[in-house]
Amino acid sequence: MIQAVILASDETHLTNFSGSKVFHALYMTLGNIYGHIRRQPQSGAWVLLAILPSSSFTQTLLNLTSPQSYVKLNKNQAASLPGILKQCLYHECMAIVIDPLCYAKRRSCFVLGPGNKIHSSMACLVGYIADMKEQFMIACVTPRACPICLAQPRLHNSTIQDHCTAKPHTGSSTLDVLYRVRNAHPDVPIWKFRTLVSKEKCGVSGYVEHPFWEDLDVGPSHFICQDLLHGAHKFFWDHPCKWIASLIGTECLDRRISLLPKEGLHHFKSGISKLKQASGREHRDLLKYIAPALAGAPRVTPQFRDFILALLHIIMIIQLPMLDDNILGELDKHFEVMYANADEAISLGLRKNLWIPKLMALTHFCQDIQLGGVSSNWSSETPETLHKLLPKSLYGQTNHKDYHIPMLEMLTVHETKRVRHEYIQWRSSIQSSQHPNPPLDHTQNYGIKIAQRPHKQGVAITSLTAKSGSLAGLISAICKFSAEADATASTSTATHQVSGTYDLSSPWFPRRYNKLDLWWSYRLTIPPFNEFYERETRTIWCKTVEDHQKSKWKGYGSCVFVLAHPKRHGIHSMSATTLKGP
Ligand SMILES: [Zn+2]
Repeated sequence: MIQAVILASDETHLTNFSGSKVFHALYMTLGNIYGHIRRQPQSGAWVLLAILPSSSFTQTLLNLTSPQSYVKLNKNQAASLPGILKQCLYHECMAIVIDPLCYAKRRSCFVLGPGNKIHSSMACLVGYIADMKEQFMIACVTPRACPICLAQPRLHNSTIQDHCTAKPHTGSSTLDVLYRVRNAHPDVPIWKFRTLVSKEKCGVSGYVEHPFWEDLDVGPSHFICQDLLHGAHKFFWDHPCKWIASLIGTECLDRRISLLPKEGLHHFKSGISKLKQASGREHRDLLKYIAPALAGAPRVTPQFRDFILALLHIIMIIQLPMLDDNILGELDKHFEVMYANADEAISLGLRKNLWIPKLMALTHFCQDIQLGGVSSNWSSETPETLHKLLPKSLYGQTNHKDYHIPMLEMLTVHETKRVRHEYIQWRSSIQSSQHPNPPLDHTQNYGIKIAQRPHKQGVAITSLTAKSGSLAGLISAICKFSAEADATASTSTATHQVSGTYDLSSPWFPRRYNKLDLWWSYRLTIPPFNEFYERETRTIWCKTVEDHQKSKWKGYGSCVFVLAHPKRHGIHSMSATTLKGP
C-alpha cells in the first residue's frame, strides 16, 4: 500500500497591524483519506508537521559594508544575499523534514489498513500545495521561468501555448545545471554561484545548490500542485478584473456590478474597486457577476469578450467536483479560444505582454487533474483555514514572547485528546454494532445551528402579537407544534387533531410559551449530495416584518421553534413555520 503524502506550507502573520511575527507552517495529510474528509479542516486529517524558521537576514555575521571586511561584495551581490540565505534556510529545514521519504532511506512498515488487515506500506510524496512565490522557491527557478515546464516567456519569448507542448521542468534538468556550474567553478562562494547559474539562461535561480528534493525519486514538476485559490480565483481578481476596469472605467464596472440582482451570492452593492480585502468566497462569487456586467459595455471588442468568457469557462470547469474525458475535451476548446484572442489585451493597450506566471500556470491545471484528480484536492483554502484553527488560536493563549514551545505543547495536548476521543468512539462503535467500518452517512451533517445566547430574551407573546396583526398564525403554529410534541412523547397511538386557527385562550396553547426567546438568524446545514460535494451552510434571517423594516437586514419572515431539554445540552426537537407578512 502506498501512503500518498501531501504537504502544504504557507506563511501567515500572527499579529495584525503590529510587529512582524511570521509563522511558516508545514502541514501534512494523506491522499488515502477520502477527499470530503480531507477538505474539512476540523476533521483531524491534517497535522502540523513542522514550523519552518523564517528570517529576513537584515543582519549577518558578514560585515558587508565595512571597508576592512575580508569579503568584497558589489551592490547587487550584497542585495541578493538575504534572499539566498532565506532560500537556503528553507531548503535545509525541509531536507530534515523530508528525510524519511528519500529514496535511499525509505523503509516499508506494517499498518492496519482497510478491512482490518495488516498491510505493508511505504510513504511517497505525491503533492505539495503552495502559493506561486513558494512554488518558485521549491522548484529553484526564477520568477521569469515556469516551475512545471521548460517554456520561458521572458528568456525565449515563448507564448502561453508553449506551456502545453514544452517538456517538463524535471528535477534532474535543474540538478544538471547546478552540478555543471559547480564542477566548472568548485571554489566560488554562493553569491557568485548564483550569478554564474543565471548566465546559463535556463530559468534556474541558483539561490540554492542542494534542493531538499535532491534525493527524492520525484521532481518538483510532479509534486507541485496548481492551487485553485491563488492560481484561478485570485488571478482573475488581480488581472482580468483590472483590465476590464481600465477598459470600461472603474465607475462603469462598479455601477454595472451593483445593479445586478443578488441570487444567493455575495452582493457587491458598492462595486469592487473600493474593496480593500476580499475573502475567497468573494473572489469566487465575482466570477459569476463579471459576464453579465461585461455584456454590451463600451469599448469591449468581440475578441476581448471571447477571451474573458473563455477564461471564465476554464476557471469554472477546472473547479467542477467531477470531471470526465468529455468535459476535459471541452476545456481544450476553451483554451483554444483563449489562445486565439489573448493578444487582444495587448492590442487594446491593457498589457505590454502576457507574461503572467498565474496565467501560465492555468495551462497546467489539466495535467494536474489527469494525474491527481479534481483540483479541489489541491486548493490552499484548507491550509489557510488551518492557520486560523492552529497557530493563530494557540498564539492567543501564550504570553506573545517565547511562544513556540508553549504552542507546540498545547498542540500535543490537543492532538492526544482528539486521538483518545476518536479511539473511544471507535471502540464503542465496535462493541455496540459489531460493524468496525460502518458505511459513511452523509446525512449526519444535517442540522440547524443557532447562537448560544438568544438575540432577544423573554419577549411576551402578547407584545409580539400586539405589534403586528400578521402574527396571528404564530399562536396556531405553537399549538400545532406542542400537540405534535406531546403525541411523540406519549406512547399512546391516539393523536390530537390540531388544525385551524387558535388564540391565546385555546386549551392547546401551553403556558410556557407565554414568553419567547428570539433569534434573528440561524444557520441551516444542508448535507452533501454525495461524497464529491461539500455540505452547504446558509444563513436564514428570521426577523419579524416590523423589525426587518427598521433594520438593514432583509429577512424573509421565517420562524423556527426550538425545544430545549432543561437537563441536556443541544437542540433535540424543532419545527418550522412561515409567517405571512403584509
Ligand atoms: Zn509551464
